Amino acid sequence: MRRTAQTGSGRSAEFDAIVVGAGFSGLFMLHSLRKLGLTVRVYEQGAGVGGTWYWNRYPGARCDSESVYYMFSDHMSEEILSEWTWSERYAAQPEILRYLEFVTDKMDLRRDIQFNARVASAVYDSGRGCWDIRLADGGTASARFLITAVGCLSATNTPSFPGIDTFAGESYHTGAWPHEGVDFTGKRVAVIGTGATAVQAVPEIAKQAAHVWVFQRTPNYDIPGRNRPLASDYATAVKADYKNLWQKARESGFGLPYQVVERSAVDYAPEERQAIFEAAWAKGGFYMGLETFSDYLVNKESNDTVSEFVRGKIREMVKDPATSELLAPKDHPFFTKRPPLENGYYEAFNRDNVTLLDARATPIEEITPRGVRMGEHEYEVDAIVYATGFDAMTGALFGMGITGRDGLRLRDKWRDGPRTYLGLTTHGFPNLFLITGPQSPSVLSNMPVSIEQNVEWIAGLVQYMLIHDLDAAEPAREAEDTWVAHHDEVAAATLLLGTDSWWVGANIPGKPRTLYPYVGGVGPFRVICQEVADKGYEGLVLTRHDATAPAPAG
Ligand code: NAP
Repeated sequence: MRRTAQTGSGRSAEFDAIVVGAGFSGLFMLHSLRKLGLTVRVYEQGAGVGGTWYWNRYPGARCDSESVYYMFSDHMSEEILSEWTWSERYAAQPEILRYLEFVTDKMDLRRDIQFNARVASAVYDSGRGCWDIRLADGGTASARFLITAVGCLSATNTPSFPGIDTFAGESYHTGAWPHEGVDFTGKRVAVIGTGATAVQAVPEIAKQAAHVWVFQRTPNYDIPGRNRPLASDYATAVKADYKNLWQKARESGFGLPYQVVERSAVDYAPEERQAIFEAAWAKGGFYMGLETFSDYLVNKESNDTVSEFVRGKIREMVKDPATSELLAPKDHPFFTKRPPLENGYYEAFNRDNVTLLDARATPIEEITPRGVRMGEHEYEVDAIVYATGFDAMTGALFGMGITGRDGLRLRDKWRDGPRTYLGLTTHGFPNLFLITGPQSPSVLSNMPVSIEQNVEWIAGLVQYMLIHDLDAAEPAREAEDTWVAHHDEVAAATLLLGTDSWWVGANIPGKPRTLYPYVGGVGPFRVICQEVADKGYEGLVLTRHDATAPAPAG
């Protein structure tokens, strides 16, 4: 493989690889490609590293994975792993951002990152065998490899409420929060949405605001996070056992080293079940979903038991019966939408200055200059917080104007839903690699674990190509068809497609309904990817640029 792309014009910057995004994925990809001796440029839209943790600075933003597992493993750096200690069970956004900045500086990554650089288009030139990138500011660059590290939840979604631009007060989307923060002291605030973001933000906003109206369309099964300062002996114990724990996480279903017991809730007597639920509820966190019973996603009857348990807890926690009934989900099974972790959310509804509104029974009709109108009632507010989520998994990719061979736009190819091979590659787009792409475990996992696996697989493939003097890698159409069929089959065996959620694209009008992440599990996915690699990247067509026929792959 000729390591540096030949552009012909000589004006465009040339690299071996271009990585888009400087969050967890982009930082580890940069580090991994550098180790192979490649020249790399990372383009990052923000003015700093961090990705999600750069943009989501809303009050209460914190990680829902336990922080000791929400970091790079020793595959990034043994030194960082031993030097860094988290202060809380679930790290807050400023601490995670500090961590990523620490990693960036420690690994000297900054010099290959261009900030304030939004990729406006990425077009594959078959003649030259490289990707041509155009930035929003007009800058251009070319590279043999294009790797997207844009995150799954980075293209914000603001519903097109009529009158949205007429509001005279302050408007914020949680996913693009002002860096200087927002002071809600004494203000009347509307929070639209009740997903994981709003569940974190509402208790914090309520501490300052004169009044908060929470506009709820669908209630969620919020699990107590039970955040607390991290005991130093716990952090030390985790560090001491880190290799074992991380390996367990890699082999697990969801990228967390929890003790999953294969059992169904329906096989237990009500009292036994209750004891298991209560123990997980007291522990806090995703243990409720992962360590109690293992068949919630495939067995509605089993799921009914945990759903009813959580509803009961909500009724206990929220004093006003009408409010607690409205907060108790009945329209979908537990964990078929991402359950938020709550640290004071339900309690917030016991405050006099927080009111829950039913935006399902009476939808928001318009935003007016003074506030939010539902039916006949206009709620006059000083600020509106849109906690309305993201065009997940494909929004940011489509926003980059990716165009592959023969002028095929990714947006057009995926018009009826994503089609990928392993979620990492897609036919018609040579040398385009997607980190945490659709049809990979991605958002159905503890992200750093999936990110490391994705990055290492991509770096392994690039290394293989270097060794074998190969220029281009592209999945065969049949391999892609087989993966999509497998992905769909696994998805269809679960309850996930039956619930409206962003996991199935239901939050964006017109978006194809399909399960976007792969639900086959982090461990099994890892094994599949490894087998593909062991067979000389089976399913990928690997070619030399000057050869017309595919080069032997083995
Ligand atoms: P979300 O889960 O998509 O929630 C968006 C909310 O806005 C939903 O309650 C939705 O209602 C509501 N909404 C959208 N359009 C509306 C409309 N027209 N009228 C009324 N309500 C409307 O977004 P999110 O809360 O930002 O969370 C997205 C994901 O980010 C989470 O699931 C999680 O994976 C991740 N996240 C992670 C963390 C963490 O780990 N620290 C924190 C926050 C978020 P419907 O449910 O009815 O659509």
